[in-house]
Amino acid sequence: MSLRWTLCLQCHADDGRVETIQLGTVERPTGNAEPADFGLSLRELRRLALALQQTVAQQQIYAYDRAKRRCPHCGAYRRIKDWRPRTFDTALGTIHVRVPRVVACMCLPEPLDENGDIEDYRETLCPIERLLPSRTTPELAYLCARHGATGSYRSAAAVVSALTSVSCLSHMRVRRETIKIGEYIEDRQFALGWGSDPQCEERAKSLSMAIDSTVLTAYPFEEISKFEVIAGRIEREGRMTRRFACAIPHRTLARVLVSAALKQCGWPPSTFVDVVNDGASGMRSLVTQIAPRVASPMLDWFHLAMKLHAIRSSLFSHHYFLPRPEIFSRCEKIWRKIREALWRGRAAIGIELTRTLAASMKEEALKRESFYGPTAATTFGAANRLLDFLQHNAAILVDYARARRAGRRISTAPAESVMNHLINRRMSKRQQMRWSINGAHYLLQARVELLDGKLEEQFIYKYPHFRSP
Ligand SMILES: [Zn+2]
Repeated sequence: MSLRWTLCLQCHADDGRVETIQLGTVERPTGNAEPADFGLSLRELRRLALALQQTVAQQQIYAYDRAKRRCPHCGAYRRIKDWRPRTFDTALGTIHVRVPRVVACMCLPEPLDENGDIEDYRETLCPIERLLPSRTTPELAYLCARHGATGSYRSAAAVVSALTSVSCLSHMRVRRETIKIGEYIEDRQFALGWGSDPQCEERAKSLSMAIDSTVLTAYPFEEISKFEVIAGRIEREGRMTRRFACAIPHRTLARVLVSAALKQCGWPPSTFVDVVNDGASGMRSLVTQIAPRVASPMLDWFHLAMKLHAIRSSLFSHHYFLPRPEIFSRCEKIWRKIREALWRGRAAIGIELTRTLAASMKEEALKRESFYGPTAATTFGAANRLLDFLQHNAAILVDYARARRAGRRISTAPAESVMNHLINRRMSKRQQMRWSINGAHYLLQARVELLDGKLEEQFIYKYPHFRSP
C-alpha cells in the first residue's frame, strides 16, 4: 500500500492550445510509514523545482525563438541551422536546454543588431543570446554577490552551493560575480558623484561624516606590497544614512565616491559638514576639497580620555600595607582639574597642570623605592605622553561640553566602527588575506551596498524585472 502523486504542468500557448507536461512523481508508504516519510523532503522538492525550472526555461526559449525567427530588417524567414545544447546555472540548480542557431539573412551587406549598430558578420546567429548573456541567472548572481560580500569567497561558494544545489560552484566564480556587480555599482556612484544635483529631494539640515583609513596587504603580483583603504559613513540629522569605501589609491576617484555618498544623503553645498576622524589631516583634506563648508577641526575626545585614563590607573593605586604619600592625594586633585580643564577646552591651563603633575611625580619617583616609587615613575611617563599630545594638538582642542550640547560628535567611535563593519570583518588582517587592489575595491563597493541594504536595488537597476512577480 502506498500513496502516489504526479505533478503536472499545464502550458497555455498563444493560440489557445494547452499542453500538459509531467514533472515528476512522489511516492510514500501508508501503513508502515516512518517519521522521515512525513511530508516532502528537501531533496524531492529540489528535484521537482529543477524539473519545473528546466521545462519553463526550455519553453521560454522556444517561444522567444518563434517570436524572433523572422529577419528584423526584411521580415524573411530564417532557417535553423542546428540546435546546440547549453548549460545554465540557476538559483534552483543546473539546467540543460537546447538553443537554436539560425542562418543569417543576406538582405543587408552589413548586418545590424537590434539597436541598429553594425555587428560582426556571421553566417549563423543565436538570437537567444540577448536573453541569456551569461551562463548564470541574475538570481544566482545575486546570491553569489550577497554571500561573497558577507564572508570569504570560499565559504560563500559553499553556502550558495548548498542553498541552490548548483554542484560545481567555485570560489572564483563567486568572486567574479561579486566584482562584476561591484564594478556596476561603482559606475553608478561615479555618475552620481559627477552629477550636479543631490539625489534626495529633501535637503539635509546637518551632516556628520566619520572617515578613516587602514592598510591592506597586496597580492604578490601588485606593484606595491601594501595599499591604503578609505572608508567612512555619513549621518544625516543623527541617523546613519550612507557608507562609502575606496581602495584604489587615486585621489580623484575617492573624491568622486565621497561626493556621491554625500549627494545621496541630500547634501547641498551650502550645508555644514562635520568631519570626525582621528587627526590624520589627509582624510580631512579629502572632504574639504569637496565640501566648501566643513566644521572646524576638533581633537578627538576618545584619544584624550585614553591618555587621561593611563595616568589615572597608576596614580589612583593603593598599597594595602604602606602608608600613602600625601603627594599622591594632591596629584589626584590636580588630575581632576586637568580633566575638567580639557573638557572645557582650556588648553593652556591643562598643559600647565599636566606639567606640574609630571614634575611632582618625577621628584617622587627619585625619592622613594618601595611600591610608590615605581608607581610614581609610571605616572610620570603617562603624564609626559599626555603633555606631548596636548602640546602638539593644543590648536584643535575645543570646548567639548559646548560641542556636545551643540550636537557635534566628539568621539571617533563612528569612524572606528565603520572600519570594523566595512573592512576588518571581511578583510581581516588576522586571516592573512592578500588582495588585489581592484578586487578589494569592487568587493568593498558591493559590501557598502549590502550593509546599506541596497544590494537588491542595484540588481533591480541592472536587471529590470529582477525579483518582480
Ligand atoms: Zn533580412
